[in-house]
Amino acid sequence: MSRRIRVYGPVPSRRFGLSLGVDVVPHKVCSYDCIYCQLGGTTEKTITRRLFYPVEEIVGDVRAALATGPSPDVITLAGSGEPTLYAGLGRLIRILKELTEIPVVLLTNGGTLFLDDVLADIMAVDILAPSLDAGDEVTFERVNQPCQAVTFHRMTTGLMNAISRFRGDVRLEVMIIKGMNDSGAELGYLTRLVKTLAPGNVDINTPVRPHPSASVSPCSARSLQRFAHGFGPDAAVIADFKRCSVAGGSTQQASLLKTRILAMLSRRPCSVEDVSRAMEIHRHEAIKLLDLLLEEGAIQQRRTNERVFFWAPVTDTIDHH
Ligand code: SF4
Repeated sequence: MSRRIRVYGPVPSRRFGLSLGVDVVPHKVCSYDCIYCQLGGTTEKTITRRLFYPVEEIVGDVRAALATGPSPDVITLAGSGEPTLYAGLGRLIRILKELTEIPVVLLTNGGTLFLDDVLADIMAVDILAPSLDAGDEVTFERVNQPCQAVTFHRMTTGLMNAISRFRGDVRLEVMIIKGMNDSGAELGYLTRLVKTLAPGNVDINTPVRPHPSASVSPCSARSLQRFAHGFGPDAAVIADFKRCSVAGGSTQQASLLKTRILAMLSRRPCSVEDVSRAMEIHRHEAIKLLDLLLEEGAIQQRRTNERVFFWAPVTDTIDHH
């Protein structure tokens, strides 16, 4: 696998600024199969940790990206699945901390934090960003469709342990989906749980981009505010992408890619996967660039036959004189 695929960006992130993404697991190896996942269905649902790639290779990829690209605000360990399933995570984090002073962020679905080895591995990151989408077992099963080994009790116990022991910043992300986990009862369950966890920061999100599944729809801003109010003063609805302070700070490489994507989308509608393949960029990078183009009003999107397509309306450039 090329460096281009395992380390991507830096790309603007609504939550963390300019982020260099590091993908440490193969596509859709995950302990969950969330109904709102932008990456498609989980192909391997597991909590078995494996050394998918040698740690040295990933470090080499990061080193090369830092030496040649713009300096990111953070290095984000994420992936096309659940990054804590990477058995080399602890060593990778230690080496990255020696390599650079750039803060290291870990995005995790939180479902593996009940495992002692995962808990030990993640303690050295600067920012721990777990997810929590349900305040009860039934909603957890419906929204996250976890691996059998991850019960609601194990997930919440793991989260609680991790948050209470962790010494860096915690940013909990809660995804609210219309008709799935936005009821008054769920607001009550989630509020109780969030208050018990006391993560410090809570980012409230909703799937704004059209999703291949018609059952996944965004909540209204008003509904999200209800959750923010319930969770307390440290909770905020994540700001629009266009308001992100780094959104305009796209690099030369990103501008070039945006131009090429625009040219492609003016010829035919494409999915995220089409753009990722054609541009030879990571899916996350394709998503970020498409988001930027949407915010700029340069492209449009629609859902057709369980897929989401993007296209660029063609403007009439014929000189009539
Ligand atoms: S945890 Fe993340 S990668 Fe896994 S299914 Fe859910 S959204 Fe997708």
